[in-house]
Amino acid sequence: MTSYLLGLVGRDISASLTPALQEREGAECGLRLSYRIIDAARLGLGADDLPDLLDWAERLGFDGLNITHPFKQAVLPLLDELSDDAADLGAVNTVVFRDGRRLGRNTDWSGYGRAFRAALPDAVQDRVVLVGAGGAGVAVGYGLLDQGAEHVAVLDADVDRAQACAVRLAKRYGDDRVAVATDLARALDDAQGLVNATPVGMLGHPGMAVPAPLVRPDLWVSDVVYFPLETELVHLARARGCRVVPGGGMAVQQAVGAFEHFTGRVPDAGRMLRHFEELTAA
Ligand code: NAD
Repeated sequence: MTSYLLGLVGRDISASLTPALQEREGAECGLRLSYRIIDAARLGLGADDLPDLLDWAERLGFDGLNITHPFKQAVLPLLDELSDDAADLGAVNTVVFRDGRRLGRNTDWSGYGRAFRAALPDAVQDRVVLVGAGGAGVAVGYGLLDQGAEHVAVLDADVDRAQACAVRLAKRYGDDRVAVATDLARALDDAQGLVNATPVGMLGHPGMAVPAPLVRPDLWVSDVVYFPLETELVHLARARGCRVVPGGGMAVQQAVGAFEHFTGRVPDAGRMLRHFEELTAA
């Protein structure tokens, strides 16, 4: 039986569902797959320790690592090869150790794209307002534009971050499909979809990044936050009759993509989604 040793590196990740998701799917695929949490907060490690951490993971026989907040950018200089998309995004969430080399991949953007297309296939060409231009925002923007979104207007409380995100997106998809917005109400007038890619709405950050009156019934609304799955924004949007894309789909689909990179096998995404729903309902 082929075996894999994998891990997740990040801060405050002890509640992550990724180990359970990956290990169950591995077993379903006939693989012996062990997935460990490597929580930098618990271990008292920071970004400066990342080089040692990767060295040791390699020496101890890990086949790959997922990388999450706050190390997705810091890991870049430690890798031997980056996929074009990871280089354009400036972020890696999946490192594969293969033949003495470290390969950097990004499955956040493709995961968002897949989850979005599965949920709202007829909305892939819409005009979208993206609120939040951090790591998740850039990944969502790539996912949307890659699916064929006509236009993405990026808004962030920090205008420099919105600008930097728009520049990255435009580099790959063209200036005419991306803009920075500063007036949310005006930007939404011209849009069919709204995505929250800020942490507002997650456990410990209650509230909404979008004023309630702007959530029109004819908008579709997507949230990347998935702790909880039913954020205030998702709840309000459902109540208004909007079509919604909650954050769980992205979380599962980025794991689907990582599983493919780690094992070379295509997992059953529907089965992983059902497992995720079981885990979050428990
Ligand atoms: P980040 O800190 O890099 O970026 C967040 C951005 O939101 C910042 O630029 C900040 O200025 C902006 N912001 C915060 N409050 C705002 C407001 N009220 N209005 C406008 N802009 C505001 O964080 P990140 O890594 O991009 O993560 C964001 C969220 O996405 C987190 O909750 C994270 O858990 C979630 N996430 C989900 C998935 C998934 O698979 N579903 C994947 C990655 C991240």
